[in-house]
Amino acid sequence: MCTGYVWGGRSPFFPGDDSFLDDGHCADQIVPSLNSPSRSSPKSNSSDYPGERYSRKVFVGGLPPDIDEEEITASFRRFGSLVVDWPHKAESKSYFPPKGYAFLLFQDERSVQELIDACLKDGDKLYLCVSSPTIKDKPVQIRPWNLADSDYVMDGSQPLDPRKTIFVGGVPRPLRAVELAMIMDRLYGGVCYAGIDTDPELKYPKGAGRVAFSNQQSYIAAISARFVQLQHGDIDKRVEVKPYVLDDQMCDECQGARCAGKFAPFFCANVTCLQYYCEHCWATIHSRAGREFHKPLVKEGADRPRTVPFRWC
Ligand SMILES: [Zn+2]
Ligand SMILES: [Zn+2]
Repeated sequence: MCTGYVWGGRSPFFPGDDSFLDDGHCADQIVPSLNSPSRSSPKSNSSDYPGERYSRKVFVGGLPPDIDEEEITASFRRFGSLVVDWPHKAESKSYFPPKGYAFLLFQDERSVQELIDACLKDGDKLYLCVSSPTIKDKPVQIRPWNLADSDYVMDGSQPLDPRKTIFVGGVPRPLRAVELAMIMDRLYGGVCYAGIDTDPELKYPKGAGRVAFSNQQSYIAAISARFVQLQHGDIDKRVEVKPYVLDDQMCDECQGARCAGKFAPFFCANVTCLQYYCEHCWATIHSRAGREFHKPLVKEGADRPRTVPFRWC
């Protein structure tokens, strides 16, 4: 892990990538809306507070089927104030996590460290015994997110180029940045950096990532594939790959001359283009024979406001 690593252009780290999520888990929906684009970067991924090592959001799996929200809260209350959540909890109006897993949102990071210390360890897996009305002392899996696993620098010898960076959607949540880097490097070579996108509030993976390559060939090979099979441990998942689209680039054709100096709204991911375009230049270039079928990639807007009743108990 190399510190002091600087992106060549503007850092492609900002919230708003939810729109690319395609894994349907939407676990990030519980995050209160944050408008500030403050994001962790490879330089500051560690923490806001000294000693902070984990996300305050912890995955719990294999819960007894008849355990309800209150009983889950009670089981973990001794580690500190927490909120229990699961995907689509608000809409479902259920008291039971539907698939036997839930997320614990602790108020303090220290609670996560205390929870980990109390766990039984089996290899790299952590378990804690939890009881429901009918099942006593069932070991449930505890999966904390280590903040250091959000970024991995594979080759720090050159500045990262946002235009050689891909966006990876539907990344399985336990996947660490180092693993994403290894998989992509094995497939395409030339990986210099991989990052797992995390939400700014809880710093928990959102289910997407970025990989920066050192050379154009690897970048083009990756985006041409469109889909990649991520295989790691129990994970075997086909994920989507696209160019990382920035929202602060000038049109590569006119440098802003034909669009009053505004940032280019479109990116063409076709390998014959691979450029940013203003509306005018997009139309001109793509009226040429062979380019009529190119489709623009658009950087989606910033985080949509999400209102969440956030209450510690
Ligand atoms: Zn233009
Ligand atoms: Zn094009």
